[in-house]
Amino acid sequence: MPFAAVDIQDDGGVPDVPQGNPKRSKENRGDRNDHVKKRKKAKKDYQPNYFLSIPITNKKITAGVKVLQNSILRQDKRLAKAMVGDGSLHITLLVMQLLSEDEVNTGTHALLELKPFVEEILEGRRLTLPFHGIDTFQGQVGFVKLADGDHVSALLEIAETAKRTFQEKGILAGESRTFRPHLTFMKLSKAPMLWKKGVRKIEPGLYEQFIDHRFGEEILYQIDLCSMLKKKQSNGYYHCESSIVLGKKSVGTQDLINEALHRERMALKSKVKQIKELLLKPETQARIRKELFEGRVFNNGNPISSADVIMV
Ligand code: AMP
Repeated sequence: MPFAAVDIQDDGGVPDVPQGNPKRSKENRGDRNDHVKKRKKAKKDYQPNYFLSIPITNKKITAGVKVLQNSILRQDKRLAKAMVGDGSLHITLLVMQLLSEDEVNTGTHALLELKPFVEEILEGRRLTLPFHGIDTFQGQVGFVKLADGDHVSALLEIAETAKRTFQEKGILAGESRTFRPHLTFMKLSKAPMLWKKGVRKIEPGLYEQFIDHRFGEEILYQIDLCSMLKKKQSNGYYHCESSIVLGKKSVGTQDLINEALHRERMALKSKVKQIKELLLKPETQARIRKELFEGRVFNNGNPISSADVIMV
């Protein structure tokens, strides 16, 4: 990966720029050539920095992955830096680009909007994700495979719905390649120095004992909007901007908290914006200057001097 702290990208894959991007297409209305050029540029500049994550929390799975990683390391200890930490094991549902606080807020809204769609797909059932065996992407990314079964189509439908929900909000999201749900346990891009040491691929012999191993099942109960770049949490998991909790277990408490926090943040942001606008108005600035020079504003009990104003 290009960023040391990023566990989930750096593959050089071609991301898919959404078709319906209302904000951006409005700007480009008019000149078709200009529109095409801008779309090409957006595609070139598209570098996902956020993703939707399904966290892996089943201890049986995390313990099994640890055993697998240790077994590989016993065969080649140079690969230590290529291993994914057990706190950050996840399934990536969707990657996206969020470039400002406003875009992150839009992402949070999109995630909240996604929840009823996911629940509709699940129809009150729990989605159980069984992990079985190992594979790699071009010998560069080692992952535990999601076993075949009905859960795969449900997960694909959720991923597709997530992509649509985020794209409809004007967010650049998704990739052009087919979504293949997987559980990454190592990737060579985490340790670029391995290339110089002659390690060019993950040799199948390293994981052959686990080729038919059943790692356990994860029940889908949460989807997080995570940053690829921000500092990870102390438990090793990614920095999350927001989450949705699915199923009856939690009765949506986390969602309520998220919504309340989001509302508070938005209200605070709008207040700060109003204050900034007020302070930038020439009449406000003139009034402040007048008040300062007329000595109405005091510095520790003394009328403020012009030297103080220069300091300010
Ligand atoms: P993740 O598990 O999302 O952290 O992804 C690990 C790596 O696998 C990333 O570098 C992805 O770009 C890469 N990857 C994900 N899906 C595919 C795919 N279908 N084909 C090839 N590489 C992929």
